[in-house]
Amino acid sequence: MSPFGSKRSLSRRVFATVFVVAAIAIATFTIVGSLLLNSNLGSVTRSELYDEAEIVASALNATTNDIALLEDVDIDNTRLTLISADGDVIYDNQELAGQMENHLARPEVAQAFASGHGSAERSSDTIGETMLYEAVLLDNGQVVRVAQAQASIFTILLSFVGPLLVIAAIVIAVSFVAARRESRAIIEPLLEVDLDHPLHNKDAAYSEMVPMLERIESQRQELKRQVKVLADNDRMRREFTANITHELKTPLTTISGYAELISGGMVADEADIKDFTARIHREAGRLTALVNDILTLSNLDEAERSDSEASSRVLGSSEPVDLPRMLDNVAQRLEHVAHKAEVAIEIDAKPAMVIGVPRLLDELAYNLASNAIRYNRPHGTVTLSSGVDGQGRPFVRVADTGIGIAAEEQAKIFERFYRVDKSRSKARGGTGLGLAIVKHAATYHGATIDLQSELDQGTTVTVTFPVQAWPMSDRFQMM
Ligand code: ADP
Repeated sequence: MSPFGSKRSLSRRVFATVFVVAAIAIATFTIVGSLLLNSNLGSVTRSELYDEAEIVASALNATTNDIALLEDVDIDNTRLTLISADGDVIYDNQELAGQMENHLARPEVAQAFASGHGSAERSSDTIGETMLYEAVLLDNGQVVRVAQAQASIFTILLSFVGPLLVIAAIVIAVSFVAARRESRAIIEPLLEVDLDHPLHNKDAAYSEMVPMLERIESQRQELKRQVKVLADNDRMRREFTANITHELKTPLTTISGYAELISGGMVADEADIKDFTARIHREAGRLTALVNDILTLSNLDEAERSDSEASSRVLGSSEPVDLPRMLDNVAQRLEHVAHKAEVAIEIDAKPAMVIGVPRLLDELAYNLASNAIRYNRPHGTVTLSSGVDGQGRPFVRVADTGIGIAAEEQAKIFERFYRVDKSRSKARGGTGLGLAIVKHAATYHGATIDLQSELDQGTTVTVTFPVQAWPMSDRFQMM
């Protein structure tokens, strides 16, 4: 392929650069050289002409037949003129003396009459030529003048045209070859960059390329991270869908099984019918709880992806929530469950307020308290506390004296559908989504979760909210 095939070609740029630099160098060299040559040539010609004039004058002083001597003198390109004391031209080797005008006024002649020697320089009619004149006063009162044309700067420049054309052709050829070689050499380190590992060959690359290579590497890492996040999200979504299907199917199978037995008249015993309908009722309750948890989680997911206006449309608007009052309410609703599990609920609520979505905060506290009861032991205790910590941050804490969570399980229990003991969770009406809701509800309110747990000793979960910035109207109400 031609190196000049594409519109923007590196070879073409390098060629242009090399050629222009060479052309500027040659042009400068030619012009400066010509000027120097011109000035040197001028002074050499002038001094030669001076000597010639003096020699001719000496010869004329020594002879009686001036004209014959002058006719014999043969100096290349030199004009010889003999002028009488009153300025008339007696002899000229290029024109007829009789037809020439009086030369008394010519500066070099006037100077020679006055001081013995005169010099002058005049542009001739011939374009680009300068005539140099030297005149010497002879012993007999006449003046001899020698003149020579000196090539002008244009003539010198013109004489360079031939060689210059040859040099230009050589420069074009050299520039072309240099451009091909240079552009290949420039491109080579670029082509050697391994875009999958841009920093591997960092030492072989141009130093100017390093920031670009670092940028490619960081973008590559970012892309990798995003691909991983997307893959994780996709995997989690698929796992979540599979889990939901499974979780929904189990109670539905139980319900439809018992319902089929009863409707087919296969259960005659009144006590069995009561037992089966109670089971159907329990499974339906599980289904409702599961669907409610899934809805809450999907609302939280949507809120996390939307702006604050859209999320308050999905989850409800934020307002001041009194944490002690909220814990009281949760305790009341769980009293029956706690009683059945023989667990005592204690409340240690210090005043604390949070601006948040009441339904979500309630769900957060309810799920923590419900877990604390369900994963407790008979005669165990659950303590619900609230307050403001040393840094002015409101918190809710749920502590139990239950079975505890092994250290390696503690990070996983916040994942959707993760249960340490599946049968225990199901037996106690768990959906496996409670702590996932707690985690998202906390994140939505900018809160952090701290979990302290020891197997067979109990668990304490503290949710700490950021320091609250109260709107003026609320501050007023609180006073
Ligand atoms: P579940 O509906 O199964 O309770 P959660 O998301 O609320 O689902 O909790 C996930 C798992 O974490 C539970 O199955 C349980 O094994 C464990 N867990 C949660 N809270 C406690 C606790 N207070 N004590 C011991 N284990 C707990």
